[in-house]
Amino acid sequence: MAINTEAFNMLKAKSDAAGVLLVAVSKTKSEEDILALYNLGQRDFGENYVQELIKKHESLPKDIRWHFIGHLQSNKVKLIAPFVYLIHGVDSVKLLEVVNKEGEKIKRKIKCLLQVHIAKEETKFGFDLIEARQAITHVFVETSFSNIELCGLMGMASFTANQEEVRNEFSSLKLLHEEIRSRVDVDKNSFSVLSMGMSGDYELAISEGSNLIRVGSLLFGARA
Ligand SMILES: *Cc1c(COP(=O)(O)O)cnc(C)c1O
Repeated sequence: MAINTEAFNMLKAKSDAAGVLLVAVSKTKSEEDILALYNLGQRDFGENYVQELIKKHESLPKDIRWHFIGHLQSNKVKLIAPFVYLIHGVDSVKLLEVVNKEGEKIKRKIKCLLQVHIAKEETKFGFDLIEARQAITHVFVETSFSNIELCGLMGMASFTANQEEVRNEFSSLKLLHEEIRSRVDVDKNSFSVLSMGMSGDYELAISEGSNLIRVGSLLFGARA
């Protein structure tokens, strides 16, 4: 499978113009394909599986910024803690505690996003809006997680052709992000990332205020 250079150039131009970070989602894709995008200048890559990420991190260039976008199990945090650039899918306070503890051990401050459940579908992980607000209070007010930098929110919209539904879901996450940023107890400079939008809905996500899109199949072709 070859990468889609044309799609990359188009996406890169669009996201640069909008001030949006493009993360190339390379799960299940070969190191060769990742290198091909790397050679076009791409440095941010997203992976969903810990073992696959470790293997790719070991053999690919060290200036790649690896985003972990999958569901992370507590017992695997220590395996990626030394090098992961941003963990998108933090979906429990317990996981935050583990990330903080692993960061402490290696004296590293680890960047995280809270995953918020915005889709109607039942299967997706994440905090609901109320739980997300509570987690924010926990992180910024009640505890002193000195080895976590909480950088923002991540969400996935429903997999549906109903554009209004998708727009509403993105819009609800944007509103929550703004609400949290307006709190006096939250560091606005850190809490700046809004990760939403994939191959099928990134345009809608950007128009609803996303500043980080996670795009896989459009760049690398469909996954098996
Ligand atoms: C796989 C994945 C993506 C990329 O999906 P595409 O539709 O291939 O662009 C984005 N975000 C998450 C969380 C994913 O698991």
